[in-house]
Amino acid sequence: MKINFKTVFSSIISIFILLGCYFLIKNIPYFTPPVILVIEYTSYVILGLGIALSIRFNQGRVFLITLLLILSELFLNYYLELSRNNSTFSQDLYSLMCLLIPLNIFTILHLKERGLFSFWGKIRITLLLIELFVIYKIAISNNSSIQKVLNYQFINLPLERTIINQTALAIFLFTLIYFIIKGYVKNSVFEVRLVWVIISIITALYFINDEISFSIFLSSAGIMLIISIIEDSYSMAYLDELTGIPSRRSLRENLMKLGNKYVIAMIDIDFFKKFNDKHGHDVGDDVLKLVASNLVKVTGGGKAFRYGGEEFTILFPGKSMNDVLPHLEKLREQISKSGYTRKLSKAQSSKSKRENLSQLFVTISIGVCEKNSTYKNSSDVIKGADKALYRAKKKGRNCVSK
Ligand code: GH3
Ligand code: MG
Ligand code: MG
Repeated sequence: MKINFKTVFSSIISIFILLGCYFLIKNIPYFTPPVILVIEYTSYVILGLGIALSIRFNQGRVFLITLLLILSELFLNYYLELSRNNSTFSQDLYSLMCLLIPLNIFTILHLKERGLFSFWGKIRITLLLIELFVIYKIAISNNSSIQKVLNYQFINLPLERTIINQTALAIFLFTLIYFIIKGYVKNSVFEVRLVWVIISIITALYFINDEISFSIFLSSAGIMLIISIIEDSYSMAYLDELTGIPSRRSLRENLMKLGNKYVIAMIDIDFFKKFNDKHGHDVGDDVLKLVASNLVKVTGGGKAFRYGGEEFTILFPGKSMNDVLPHLEKLREQISKSGYTRKLSKAQSSKSKRENLSQLFVTISIGVCEKNSTYKNSSDVIKGADKALYRAKKKGRNCVSK
């Protein structure tokens, strides 16, 4: 299993948030009434902020989960009020919500991101509202057979205080295990975030009869969702969409951080227009991804960026020309040898046997320039590297030029 920085970082942040909640709950007896009042409503504010941000950044899935949580909280607080005033009020609403929340999150995860107020986005929001309305209607009908089904005990659990029904607990557990496997084994950061959101929700539901703790753990779920929105917007701004490596904007920020000694390499794929014309733009895109995945593995302290089109930049902070040349030579050779295996249709594959087309190769040319008295700042050094790249192309391509 490969360790992914993003999933580890996301888990550490979530653990800190949960520890913060635990600390707050331990200190509830020392809170003054105004503080208690603020905490009671904090979850609404945080989830409301989550809704506003997900609308702003057009994140449909996070929006649906946040909407589900804020409406569930409204319903459950209403349920608490009712059960306080009327002791015979059934627990159906609570039991149904315990089932509904994990099932909905599981479903939302499997939806494709289609934005918020697009046709499909609106249908999803409408379905969620209809579902909540039906749940509410079922709950207030006080139907005894539904109650029996909901509160069916599969096994005798020693946890007497656990008021979440066993079916819901089983669904929560299944969802959690599913997200853990998908998140940590497949390194999918959205699933990892949802693991911690679900842990917060189960804990909140467990504390349903204690409004403060309930609000604290729902706030925790809300904060995790907000962090997810912020991290995704960061990725959108700083990572190139096609190749997933740092983008031009990220390059610009890294250029500002450079000291007095550095080398910049400009890289360009050779004859890429011809390659696209011959194999199609989609194959071209796949090859760009393959080249980028090799570029980020550059040794010698380099950091790769997509400059634009089929051009890339590598920064070597604190290095001299002689330090980096062997690493760039190694990189150039590695890329020229890493073939792209094309997925072929049956008709194409019989043809390709003749033409030996199943493996496709591209080469790159590299221009290198270091900061010195002629090239005084980063834009001069980039221009110098561009000139060197032009020389590499003139020399016949697939080479490094300084
Ligand atoms: P040279 O060896 O001189 O660099 O030749 P070249 O054909 O690579 O150079 P040119 O600048 O004429 O063409 C660059 C081509 O890169 C044009 C375009 O088709 C292709 N290209 C740029 N960005 C992308 C992209 O995002 N995806 C794909 N598939 N192709 C791209
Ligand atoms: Mg070019
Ligand atoms: Mg090119």
